[in-house]
Amino acid sequence: MKKIAILTSGGDAPGMNAAIRAVVRTALKNDIEVIGINMGYEGLINGDFHPMDRRAVSDIIQKGGTILKTARCPEFKDPVVREKAAQVLRIYGIEGLIVIGGDGSFMGAKGLSDLGIKTIGLPGTIDNDLAYTDYTIGFDTAQNTITDAINKLRDTSSSHQRVSVVEVMGRNCGDLALYAGLAGGATTILVPEKKMTKEEAIREVMEGRKMKKNHNLVVVAEGVGGARELAQDIEELTGIEARATVLGHIQRGGVPTAFDRILAARMGHRAVELLMEGKSARVVGIKANKIIDMDIYEALAMERTFDEELYKIAMDMS
Ligand code: ADP
Repeated sequence: MKKIAILTSGGDAPGMNAAIRAVVRTALKNDIEVIGINMGYEGLINGDFHPMDRRAVSDIIQKGGTILKTARCPEFKDPVVREKAAQVLRIYGIEGLIVIGGDGSFMGAKGLSDLGIKTIGLPGTIDNDLAYTDYTIGFDTAQNTITDAINKLRDTSSSHQRVSVVEVMGRNCGDLALYAGLAGGATTILVPEKKMTKEEAIREVMEGRKMKKNHNLVVVAEGVGGARELAQDIEELTGIEARATVLGHIQRGGVPTAFDRILAARMGHRAVELLMEGKSARVVGIKANKIIDMDIYEALAMERTFDEELYKIAMDMS
């Protein structure tokens, strides 16, 4: 393999830059040329390419976001558009492509692999919603960002003896709420995988007040429902002041943690190795602290398992 390309696609996540750096440096060490593609699949179709040398990835390991920019490109689902993209890659002599993104981005990579372009996917998403890997790049940074926000809310809500309802990202996956909720000492954690009713959550708040708790911290994943409505209901039904905080895009940014940087380095390194071994249509993950790789379809077909044990621990702490 003489020339490969790299792009970031879908939602951005802290640690993507560390992954780009790992790919570029590993490839160059092995005398492989690297082309950076801006703006995900959109840039691929438009030929938005630039060669990347060692210096192109200097001073980015500590930066959130992605220097390659990212975009959503719905037309990439169209096989005609994908054929055009494969043609562009062939014209530039690019034999392999590394895609950093989530499940949608992996589908695009699989489509290109079917057209003869060797592709490898790296999991870059704060949600941790990919079943085949224990962790995705960006999740650890996001859970630390949320924990930090919970710490701050704890100060003010205990001073005012209020209930604080914090809405975090996670439409179908409650990992951010669960991990950050446990780390931040939340009294109640609402995740899409566990059907706790609003009434049950409110009852917990009332029980907490009976136990003379100064404050209540309720963490709710966005897939369960809005924090504002929940805070309103709590206030109306209990008479206890409740405030909602929707963390929003704050969760996507920031300096990546050491964990995310190391994960990105290990995964990026392995992705290049896989291309050198002639592999394609595979995604890189981590299981029990070992870097693994798996067929894209097989990985995407896996059902996520919710960490019941961690949830029970969190519940027992409240
Ligand atoms: P993520 O990769 O974070 O899951 P998206 O689901 O938005 O984010 O997907 C990112 C991009 O991947 C889409 O904008 C599109 O270009 C491409 N993509 C998504 N689904 C498919 C698909 N089924 N086939 C081909 N490409 C896809």
